[in-house]
Amino acid sequence: MTKNLVLIDHDGNKVAKSAAELATFAKRAGNAIGLLLANSGSGDSLAAQLNGTEFERVLIVENDEINRHGIAAATAAIAQIIEKEGAESIFIASSARGKEIAGRLAVRLKSGIITDAVDVASDLSTTQSVFGGSFSVKAKLKTPLSIITVRPSSIEPVISTSNPTIEKVTVAIDAKDKLVEISASQPPVKGGRPDLTEAKIVISGGRGTNGNFAEVEAFADLVGGAVGASRAATDAGWYPHTHQVGQTGKTVSPQLYVACGISGAIQHRAGMQTSKTIVAINKDPEAPIFDLADFGVVGDLFAVLPQAREAIKSKRS
Ligand SMILES: Cc1cc2nc3c(=O)[nH]c(=O)nc-3n(C[C@H](O)[C@H](O)[C@H](O)COP(=O)(O)OP(=O)(O)OC[C@H]3O[C@@H](n4cnc5c(N)ncnc54)[C@H](O)[C@@H]3O)c2cc1C
Repeated sequence: MTKNLVLIDHDGNKVAKSAAELATFAKRAGNAIGLLLANSGSGDSLAAQLNGTEFERVLIVENDEINRHGIAAATAAIAQIIEKEGAESIFIASSARGKEIAGRLAVRLKSGIITDAVDVASDLSTTQSVFGGSFSVKAKLKTPLSIITVRPSSIEPVISTSNPTIEKVTVAIDAKDKLVEISASQPPVKGGRPDLTEAKIVISGGRGTNGNFAEVEAFADLVGGAVGASRAATDAGWYPHTHQVGQTGKTVSPQLYVACGISGAIQHRAGMQTSKTIVAINKDPEAPIFDLADFGVVGDLFAVLPQAREAIKSKRS
């Protein structure tokens, strides 16, 4: 059985949704072993959130130095666990931090690396969507260790009836991995909506909103989705740049992406075309977004979205 480690993302209190997704990919390839880097005293409550995932074991490293000394210290800790466990792969969520850790691990352990996979097969071969999604690449690493970062929401996690075994493990961080000292850090202020890159549903608005995102937001709230925006909307100052989807914005891969008043320029598609189901609402029947959409509604978003909300509400009641 291939031994697959998964680096579990968390914010100190809550485990990220990507953990269960990566467990499902790891399990597909063999054993799924979670690795939780936590501050002293916080490992058990984080690990408890992994009950019902496909992890067989969860290794907890409680070491305050990892948080204090940043990514170099985290990389050192992960490398030690990979070697101790004799792991053949490690799965990491494709965030900026995840990709930096993966890159550093690859250098340190002289291993190959694949980033931004959207699928991983049982033999650890991967699928990536590149060049704005115009090519799909299949690749497999030849090194004994496979370091793979996977985009969030690439798979629906399998729910398990068993709970993982929890094991506390220790690591030693050398002075050379403690050259950075983090003096203060502040978590981002979050609203009530899910994170754009982790959301299962994303509702995005473009120039067609004419600066009025009220309908887009109301629909997102009804379905528990995140709000995205095209660059035309963020450049106009209608929505924050942190919500921009596309080549120069965020890459999202939700189960459902609803594009409202967005034409479907190649740079926008680059950030959303791996979404599982794409719905487009656009006044122009010739808009290129309809070439990509699974479902299209030709109409004014200010008429379509309220009707869609009413229809969903009446179905629910
Ligand atoms: C280097 C580079 C990087 C870029 N990066 C990005 C990026 O990361 N993300 C991104 O999005 N773009 C990016 N762009 C810009 C991109 O090329 C497009 O200009 C942009 O995506 C257009 O946004 P839009 O679809 O909202 O606007 P438009 O192309 O103007 O389309 C608006 C659409 O709304 C429809 N519409 C109008 N009113 C309504 C209504 N009431 N109801 C329904 N439909 C309506 C119209 O029919 C039209 O199809 C980049 C461009 C460059 C050159």
